[in-house]
Amino acid sequence: MTEITHERRRSRLIHVGKVPVGGDSPISIQSMTTTKTDNIDETLIQVHALATQGADMVRVAVPHEGDAKALPTIAREGGVPIIADIHFSVRLAMMALEAGVHGLRLNPGNMRNPKHIKEVAEAAKERGIPIRIGVNAGSLDKKLVEKYGRPTAEALVESALYEISLLEEHGFRDIKVSVKHQNVPEMINAYRLLASQTDVPLHLGVTEAGTPKQGIVKSAIGIGTLLAEGIGDTIRVSLTADPVEEVKVGKQILKSLGLKEDGFDFVACPSCGRAELDVFELAGQVEARIEKMDLPPMQIAVMGCEVNGPGEARDADIGIAAGPGRGLLFSKGKQIGWVPHDRLVDALIEEAEKVAAEIRASGGGGDGGATVLKGAGRRQDPVVPIGMGPPAD
Ligand code: SF4
Repeated sequence: MTEITHERRRSRLIHVGKVPVGGDSPISIQSMTTTKTDNIDETLIQVHALATQGADMVRVAVPHEGDAKALPTIAREGGVPIIADIHFSVRLAMMALEAGVHGLRLNPGNMRNPKHIKEVAEAAKERGIPIRIGVNAGSLDKKLVEKYGRPTAEALVESALYEISLLEEHGFRDIKVSVKHQNVPEMINAYRLLASQTDVPLHLGVTEAGTPKQGIVKSAIGIGTLLAEGIGDTIRVSLTADPVEEVKVGKQILKSLGLKEDGFDFVACPSCGRAELDVFELAGQVEARIEKMDLPPMQIAVMGCEVNGPGEARDADIGIAAGPGRGLLFSKGKQIGWVPHDRLVDALIEEAEKVAAEIRASGGGGDGGATVLKGAGRRQDPVVPIGMGPPAD
């Protein structure tokens, strides 16, 4: 897999439960539940769904005492590190720490009383629990908004550095920080500026990104730009949608940048007047099938014609280039044979299973297509070997 060559910013290493954040550790993905946290069953169902989709850690809102009382069970049974989202209350923060959560999200500046900040910092330090400071354009201190005229990147960074200092003055250093903005250029500038002024790990996100239609684009550009520059240690895609979608998009951002090798990478042509079949339909069917498979990292390509299709299909681990009435199946760069249109999906899935088994047997996670495996399965029926099929008409 080709990786971005920009050197990664060196950040201090912290741990959220078993998940390392910062340093050389992989970029982690997080999301947040939308359930009422005091509904333990529903919250755990959502936490598990998020973890299954690839969330490395999950945040839960803790606005009330009832939510804090649910935390021991959720932290114990969540299966991934649980972060308690606290805003103002020292009491809820202390309850969350005692509940065994793996991280807190709070802004010490919101607590006002210096004694409370000290109390939380010392208790978190004693337990080895990190705190994420979340600076947000929408809730920036009024004085900073007045000073800068609006929530600029500089205003966000000034706020973040102040919040960091409130914890560090108590010797607390297990901190990560976000400076989220709904405006993508401002968000990018804020993280760039913050990255140049502190070594705390950075939690990237575009706040209030909106519905998937625009939120995915905003997040991909904002988070992706920074990651490509080597900035960022953990990400959260915020969407007005089921949080499972946030995790899927987060994974896709990391995979697109070569920062995560995880399951399949799906390549499909956009279709055009040359297409020999309904590429949208074929790609949708293939994607629906492979999403349910537990595949090692591999690339699968679906191409609509014999003009530009074979090149992409050959470069992928498994590929199909459609021709009239049939398609050419490729596996690990070799032509396997012609397959009738109505068998294309099944043939591709069968070939994917074979290649996946070979990748696993070789002990490899795959390298996105560079490895040529010996004996990549050659189907006889109904795949017609090259040169023996009827001429395409
Ligand atoms: S692969 Fe063929 S059908 Fe697909 S977009 Fe390219 S030219 Fe068109």
